[in-house]
Amino acid sequence: MAMLLKGAEVAKALTEGLHAKTEELKKNGVEPCLAILRVGAREDDLAYERGALKRCEKVGVAVRQVVLPEDVTQEVLMENIHALGVDEKVHGVLMFRPLPGHLDDEAARAALDPKKDMDGITDGSMTAVYAGTKGGYPPCTAAACVALLKHYNIPIKGKRVVVIGRSLVIGKPVSLLLLAEHATVTICHSRSENLPEICREADILVVAAGKAGMVGAESVRAGQVVLDVGIHVGADGNLCGDTRFAEVEPVVEAITPVPGGVGTVTSTILASHVVEAAERAASK
Ligand code: NAP
Repeated sequence: MAMLLKGAEVAKALTEGLHAKTEELKKNGVEPCLAILRVGAREDDLAYERGALKRCEKVGVAVRQVVLPEDVTQEVLMENIHALGVDEKVHGVLMFRPLPGHLDDEAARAALDPKKDMDGITDGSMTAVYAGTKGGYPPCTAAACVALLKHYNIPIKGKRVVVIGRSLVIGKPVSLLLLAEHATVTICHSRSENLPEICREADILVVAAGKAGMVGAESVRAGQVVLDVGIHVGADGNLCGDTRFAEVEPVVEAITPVPGGVGTVTSTILASHVVEAAERAASK
């Protein structure tokens, strides 16, 4: 039986450390504050927002919710992004995407200050992840994968990592973050040939394909650590991941459950980015 890498344990441990930091900041007159900018009311966004509100409260981060109507104009959206950018009381901004189709996503992202971009959506944040500099923050889910491995003391340095997925949200940033931790990283995608064979070579397999149950027993071997990033509502109405858990779990050494794995850590990483942004602002 594989060891279950439970996100709640990681979130709890991180929250304790973060809470101490927010207390310290507050003693010095700084209240870490996250602004959540949401257009419309997509169910995905609402679910993420609920998780973020709960976690920020536990950590001691204030949250300002800015909700714009589904048919908001580009002009009003940009005004709101600029207002949050210049507001010194706001240390970080989470802007939900995709935006409704009539809005210019590139312009909206470009208007956000990378120093306040908590989920790695600006070009500046992506450059920081690529270059390994401190100019921005990585996407929270990608950073959550690394936090999980570190919490469970799973060695990364020198290990063979295979990532399935090359999106800007997960696949690419998690690959770069693990490369920065000195892993040897292979990135796979929908045109990769011999995918199961490549997966079996991994010490750590990160599955972020967005395809329910695509990874099964054929792609794993004993001794591996599997991080399942996928989230889907299965045919039975229950949440499931990108792996066929019942097939993979008996074979590998450790695996994240879905739900209760990577996704559970994501909002804590968001809160940690806000605390870091507040600390940086306070140290100026
Ligand atoms: P995405 O933008 O759809 O990207 C999926 C990636 O997987 C693409 O690079 C695609 O390759 C690759 N892929 C798709 N089918 C494949 C196949 N059969 N074989 C190999 N590669 C394949 O998805 P995403 O935004 O990265 O999200 C991935 C998953 O994570 C989704 O299930 C999403 O719901 C979940 N998610 C979880 C969290 C969390 O907190 N846990 C947060 C965000 C997202 P190509 O580039 O060739 O198309």
